[in-house]
Amino acid sequence: MVFENTAEFAKSRDSVDHLAKFRSEFIFPVIDGKEVIYFTGNSLGLQPRKAKDALMVELEDWGKWGVEGHFHARNPWFSYHERFTDLAAEVVGANRKEVVLMNALTVNLHLLMVSFFRPQGKRTKILCEAKAFPSDQYAVESQLRFHGLNPEEHLIEVHPRAGEHVIRLEDVVKEIKKAGDELALVMIGGVNYYSGQVFDMRSIAAEAHAVGALCGFDLAHAAGNIPLQLHEWGVDFACWCSYKYLNSGPGAISGVFIHERHATNADIPRFAGWWGHDKSERFLMNPGFKPMPTAESWQMSNAPVFNMAIHKVSLDLFHDAGMENLRNKSLQLTDYLAFIIRQVAQKTNTNLEIITPMEHAERGCQLSVLAHGFGRKLFDAITEKGVIADWREPNVIRMAPVPLYNSFEDVFRFGQILEQTIAK
Ligand SMILES: *Cc1c(COP(=O)(O)O)cnc(C)c1O
Repeated sequence: MVFENTAEFAKSRDSVDHLAKFRSEFIFPVIDGKEVIYFTGNSLGLQPRKAKDALMVELEDWGKWGVEGHFHARNPWFSYHERFTDLAAEVVGANRKEVVLMNALTVNLHLLMVSFFRPQGKRTKILCEAKAFPSDQYAVESQLRFHGLNPEEHLIEVHPRAGEHVIRLEDVVKEIKKAGDELALVMIGGVNYYSGQVFDMRSIAAEAHAVGALCGFDLAHAAGNIPLQLHEWGVDFACWCSYKYLNSGPGAISGVFIHERHATNADIPRFAGWWGHDKSERFLMNPGFKPMPTAESWQMSNAPVFNMAIHKVSLDLFHDAGMENLRNKSLQLTDYLAFIIRQVAQKTNTNLEIITPMEHAERGCQLSVLAHGFGRKLFDAITEKGVIADWREPNVIRMAPVPLYNSFEDVFRFGQILEQTIAK
């Protein structure tokens, strides 16, 4: 598509966008009487308008029924999590046995490593990407230490090459092969939070399996952003949060994927709780854990209903919009943002370096930009003018126009603000 840096062009794109109607389903923060340009759906998604009503339903039913709400609430809490199975499976490309919603993301990373990182003999190493999200680094390192292994020796980090910002697949593959039968687990962020790079998860899982290792992904920046086919790709496990692209509110529930071949295997060690027990006997309160023959058997506690009520609103919107439609719009919207950034750089004679790969297969909504010679000052100045983007140390501005609620006009207006700010 040939883009133009004009309001008319942006408006004409919005007028033919079938997803444009979803914008009104969300609440935009207002600063100085004006709606902000919100490009931080990759950090905390906006609040769906129907979130409040969905929460009220559960509060009312709690008031009306007390404990009886477990069975008599409009959405009975006993089986509350089951309302999410199909919707969550759709977002990550899984079948019904493979997904469950529970806990928070880092907690789930740990629980999954309890099951899928069990070093034995010489197979002790974990491979991850350099500059993984800090929480993931801490999780991986503390898992190694928990098993008495020193991360200095047992953690392999794959780096971008000198002078490059993203990690080459061939370098990941090379390190996997090199580690060979010493490699226990590949554990990577499917989309890197810093650079926005999308990893080739199918190939990485296949390479890990080829040397006898398991492969898991943290999908915090992938779920609701890019199409996923976890089952088909043969990924062993994955987890994600629901407050970024999935718009379910601060600290909201995490999702977990466990491939069917593991989810149905009762012999895999796990930390067990009553909500993972065979549901037909859950309330007999018998001793002896009998796992559900699904990912649900990793679920330890009963569902945090208030938190999940909001997640349901958001997943319904994703279902209505359709992941494929969202992706199609997302590619155009982010291509337009890249075009606008380049236009501004040219007009103002500045070096705004986009470090996110531009190949569609290697990126989602997000663009990460190094503003050479400006740094934090430029970021602070656009924030003052009503652009909510995101600054990550040491020097990157992250922007993620999301297809559910951002428009081409948002991107155009952003370009105007950026240009005026730099020109000053
Ligand atoms: C956002 C994010 C987290 C945050 O973890 P919480 O447990 O939800 O606080 C962890 N890992 C990655 C890769 C993230 O992007």
